[in-house]
Formats: sequence, C-alpha cells, structure tokens
Amino acid sequence: MERVLRDGFIFLSQNKTLNGLAKRYGLKFGAGRFVAGDSLEASKRAIQDLNAKGLCVTMDHLGEFISTGAEAEMMTQECIRAVEMIAEEKLDSQLSLKLTSLGLDISDQLIRSNMERILTRAKELGVFVTIDMEDEPRCEKTIQLFEELRQSFDNIGTVIQSYLYRSEDDIKRVGRFETNLRIVKGAYKEPATVAFPEKEDVDHNYIKLVKLQLSLGNYAAVATHDDAMIEQIIRYAKENGIGNDKFEFQMLYGIRVERQLELVKLGYKVRVYVPYGRDWYGYFMRRLAERPANVAFVLKGMVKG
Ligand SMILES: Cc1cc2nc3c(=O)[nH]c(=O)nc-3n(C[C@H](O)[C@H](O)[C@H](O)COP(=O)(O)OP(=O)(O)OC[C@H]3O[C@@H](n4cnc5c(N)ncnc54)[C@H](O)[C@@H]3O)c2cc1C
Repeated sequence: MERVLRDGFIFLSQNKTLNGLAKRYGLKFGAGRFVAGDSLEASKRAIQDLNAKGLCVTMDHLGEFISTGAEAEMMTQECIRAVEMIAEEKLDSQLSLKLTSLGLDISDQLIRSNMERILTRAKELGVFVTIDMEDEPRCEKTIQLFEELRQSFDNIGTVIQSYLYRSEDDIKRVGRFETNLRIVKGAYKEPATVAFPEKEDVDHNYIKLVKLQLSLGNYAAVATHDDAMIEQIIRYAKENGIGNDKFEFQMLYGIRVERQLELVKLGYKVRVYVPYGRDWYGYFMRRLAERPANVAFVLKGMVKG
C-alpha cells in the first residue's frame, strides 16, 4: 500500500497542469508545514528563527518545469538575490538550487552561463552553493557540469543519491576535487535498471557511501531523517576518530524538528533545507510520497480550505 501511495504522489509531482494550478494559489493543503513561505522575505524570517536556535540553513527557491529562457533568467536572478540577502542579513545559510530551474533542459550554454553568474556572486559574498540532484536521466549531465564548474569555483558542492547503482563511482569520481557532498537516499521514482528497488539495499548503500566520502577525507552532509542512518554514522565517526567538523547532518524544513535540536545539543552541526517560493507543488508531493503519514496534513488542509 505504501509503495502504491509513494508511486502515486511521485506521479502527481510530475504533473505540469497541477503544478501550474498550484502556483496560482498560495500555499495550500498543509504545504506551509514544509515550505517556509512564498517569498524571499518569508524565507528570511524562517532562517533567522532557525539560526537563533543554533541551526544552519541551506535555502532553496522552489522551481520546476522551466521551459523558457525568460523563466530560467527569472530563477537565476532570484538565486542571486537570495545569495545577496544571505550576505546582507548575515544569515547562517547556504544556497541550494536545481539545474532544471535554471535552464538545464533548454541548452548547455544557458545553464553554464546562469550557473557561472550565480557562483561568481556567491563566491564574492562567501556563500556556498549546492546543486541538488534530480532524476536519473539528468544525473550524468549534472555531474559533468559540476566537474566543469568546480575547476573555477570552490564554493560549490552537489548531491549523491544512495538508490542509484552509479553513486559509488560518482563519489570516487568527484572525490578528486575534495568535494563537499550531500548524501541522500533519493526522492524520484527510478527503474530497477538504474536504482536499487529495495529499501534495505538503499539504506545499506547509504551507509557505505557516507563512509566512503569520509574515508576519502572529504566533507559529508548526512541528509536523512532516519535515526538508523544517523546513529550508524555517529558511531562510525567516533570509532574512527573523525571529528564533528568533517560532517554535518541535514534535514528538511518542518521534518523531525525536535531531533534537529537534539543533535545540535549533542554538539553536531545541523543544517535545515529551507524551501520557499510559489512553485511549491512538486516539492510538496515528493514529501507526501516519502511519508504517507503526511497525507493527514493534506486532508486537514483541505477541510480548512
Ligand atoms: C537536506 C536534504 C536535502 C535533500 N536533497 C535531495 C536531492 O538533492 N535530491 C534527492 O533526490 N533527494 C533529496 N532529498 C530527499 C531524500 O532523497 C529522501 O527522499 C528523504 O530525505 C527521505 O529519506 P530519509 O533518508 O529521510 O528516510 P526514509 O527512508 O524516508 O525514512 C526512514 C525513517 O526516517 C524517519 N522519517 C522519515 N521522514 C520522517 C518524517 N517526515 N517525520 C518523522 N520521521 C521521519 C522515520 O523513522 C522513517 O522510518 C534531500 C533530503 C534532505 C534531508
């Protein structure tokens, strides 16, 4: 049943018509629990609140299904504004972005130039930028672009998904850049030809990949809400003399808030991924896919209108 729900929500997350409709209305159906607000200003307040509690942030301007250069330009400008706000307001925040929102599917030249503009401004202001990983057909292009950009920018990292068979090779491949990598399980629906179908294998690979990244001497962002993963990494770090400055935990805004604070109290760095913007639909559907219990919030939201 859980798998049917997961597949259903992932299918819905890719529906362009529903995405368009959702954009026209504000944050609905309980989406406000997972999205910090629909504007940069709203995200600023959320970040300040989190920072005051000892949590670091990576902010993300939501945007998917971009098909024109004009939309990609708007998104690029928004990323630059976000970087400038981080610096002006002295927020303890990085920036996360999705290449499809900046023109990845439009042209190689456009995505490279938009990324260079964002990274140049971010570098001037000392802001670190993480390229989120999207679905598998875009993975190779993302890694290639990352490799290219990493040669000119040291304020850039990316994401590795433990459900993909290729991820171990990818960590070794980008490891030569001493790359800061966020390691996640993976949020898209992928076929068994490219991804482990069984959760047990995804979890097993998750631990293996984090250990690999740390054993290469590179920084790991352990992005999961799963206590089994968190505890194993804490134990591994202790047993191998890996300092708390070599890794951090990351969780999504609104998810396991108490656990985030507990980890801070234990002396770990915890970074919260704070999404904001009007294009909340796809992100919200993927969160529902991950945890059908969250559907209860949708139903409550519907009742409230
Ligand atoms: C900071 C961050 C950035 C991410 N970036 C990307 C990205 O770039 N690309 C990508 O594909 N995916 C990304 N993801 C999503 C990721 O791939 C997973 O889909 C998502 O994190 C769910 O997997 P999980 O590891 O948290 O645990 P799951 O395997 O989903 O759950 C394991 C256990 O964790 C606990 N748990 C999980 N969710 C909740 C909840 N809502 N409330 C309470 N307990 C919960 C439960 O105990 C559950 O049994 C990101 C996730 C995070 C945290």
